[in-house]
Amino acid sequence: MKRTRCLVLLVMGLGLSQASSARLNVFACEPEWASLAKALGGELIAATSATTARQDPHRIEARPSLIAKVRRADLLVCNGAELEIGWLPMLQRQAGNRKVLPGQAGYFEAAEQVERLGIPEKVDRSMGDVHASGNPHVHLDPRRVLKIASALSERLMSLDPSNTGHYRSRLDDFTHHWQQALERWQRIAEPLKGARVVVYHQDWDYLFDWLQIVKAGSLEPKPGLPATAGHLAKLRQSLMEEPASAIVYTRYQNPKAAQRLSQLTGIAALELPYTVGGGEGVTDLFSLFDETLKRLLQVVP
Ligand SMILES: [Zn+2]
Repeated sequence: MKRTRCLVLLVMGLGLSQASSARLNVFACEPEWASLAKALGGELIAATSATTARQDPHRIEARPSLIAKVRRADLLVCNGAELEIGWLPMLQRQAGNRKVLPGQAGYFEAAEQVERLGIPEKVDRSMGDVHASGNPHVHLDPRRVLKIASALSERLMSLDPSNTGHYRSRLDDFTHHWQQALERWQRIAEPLKGARVVVYHQDWDYLFDWLQIVKAGSLEPKPGLPATAGHLAKLRQSLMEEPASAIVYTRYQNPKAAQRLSQLTGIAALELPYTVGGGEGVTDLFSLFDETLKRLLQVVP
């Protein structure tokens, strides 16, 4: 009798410790999504990112270490909308992990959860490296991040239903703090409204859409193509007619074209974080927006 009770307690104990230490192995494609998964899962999530802020998420090498990580993953959290089309399908194929293939519960695309800007009416090669499913760089609009957070939290609950309460309370907490931050950001970003800013790539479109910043040109003549001297000369001409406040680029982009245009025009070249890890103190999604706004406000009068 006593032994049976002990056994029952032991089994209950094991059950409990299993529930509280259950960990989902999350393989994120980019730092912003690893950070979001961690915020929503806390200690129940082990998250790793395939890329860092110094790497161009459009094109990385499908290294064996990444294949091994995809093989062990319970959930892939990627941007989608073709951002990783050059490397993720190969990782998924080589990892042989059916759980994380497209269409499975273990595969989550952030861009899929929100409306996208810039969906082209038609796509052909002459347009450069155009994303047919629209501009994929959705994480720089905090309103969209909130929608993605809610969808990702649901996914965590469905993969780990025994910890639904944990994920729900973390989502509530995240949502509460994010909404407060959103109001603050919108208030302090007021002077940016209508400012003209030159970009490197189309990676700031969502931020600009949110803050009503005007894109005054792009260093890439077409998405994904490097800047040429001829293109910079054209940009210089148009900026002489209608000036801009800054030329922005990020860590994974070569700063040379931005610096060259800055020399030609006298407009400040400004490095922005773009993602978590993309600048000093940019350790999560909150500090990513804090720092981005701080830097933009320094150059926009
Ligand atoms: Zn892109």
